[in-house]
Amino acid sequence: MSKDARIFVAGHRGLVGSAIVRRLQVEGHGNILLRSSADLDLRNQAAVERFFTQERPELVILAAAKVGGIHANNTYPADFIRDNLQIQTNVIDAAYRLGTRKLLFLGSSCIYPKYAPQPMNEDCLLTGPLEPTNEWYAIAKIAGVKMCQAYRRQYQFDAICAMPTNLYGPGDNFDLNNSHVLPALLRKFHESKQQGLDEVVVWGTGTPRREFLHVDDLADACLFLLREYSSDHPVNIGWGEDVSILELARLIQEIVGFSGQLRFDTSKPDGTPRKLLDTSRLRDLGWRPKIPLREGVAATYRWLLAHLSERR
Ligand code: GDP
Repeated sequence: MSKDARIFVAGHRGLVGSAIVRRLQVEGHGNILLRSSADLDLRNQAAVERFFTQERPELVILAAAKVGGIHANNTYPADFIRDNLQIQTNVIDAAYRLGTRKLLFLGSSCIYPKYAPQPMNEDCLLTGPLEPTNEWYAIAKIAGVKMCQAYRRQYQFDAICAMPTNLYGPGDNFDLNNSHVLPALLRKFHESKQQGLDEVVVWGTGTPRREFLHVDDLADACLFLLREYSSDHPVNIGWGEDVSILELARLIQEIVGFSGQLRFDTSKPDGTPRKLLDTSRLRDLGWRPKIPLREGVAATYRWLLAHLSERR
């Protein structure tokens, strides 16, 4: 992958896309193509086709998606399935037809069955029913994986698929209703501390287990795969260990320095009981994550504080 290859990072304003752009810049890439959603609506096939015809990206990282936490997925199922199917279909097809040399599609660990054996191997895809709270998003992402595999089989198009675990880091969505658990809890603990409240509400029972990976590690892994990997077999990207939501809440409480209580709101859903990826394929290829959870959460909290003070 030469430093002046024309590389399109779709979704560069999001958590993942922005981390990939930072990483490309650190590595000295000078030819990064970026479009905000206002400039290029990836759901619009004609617009995507025009963009690829004009810009002819050699490499594409498809990090654009409609994403959200358990509540958003549960509340807006139509938006999640439609937007994601449109975005990925338009981009993968235009990339193939208009001469892109290689494409990396980003899936998600929620594409695996709800009760898949843990840690979840790439081969458990489509072996059982999905978690109902996010099956709409998951079905779209599964279609993306299958589309990459089909284009490789029929057209020899070099499309690869990465399956990240739950991600966090700078630039995350900290909205209390639509975000994932880690940014939501960072914000809740921070605000409760500031307002002198004596409790923080944690959704569900606290017993579900989740694996968290810092998005800078993910960006590093994506560029590693783009350079080193070419196969129709998806590759999991994760930290390799999980924590319970209770353990995560305690860790965030300590980092933020909140001295009150935790209260579990069991009227909110728990979702999948456990989501831990088997990352042995990626490890065998020679890649390892570097940012431990405590260090990554502390850095993300510093980012949030700086960001909140900028907005004031
Ligand atoms: P999931 O990994 O797709 O289930 O999505 P989330 O990151 O949204 O939720 C993970 C787990 O954290 C679920 O069991 C949630 O009920 C729990 N959780 C606890 N507190 C919160 C919160 O404030 N926001 C979110 N999104 N989840 C929370």
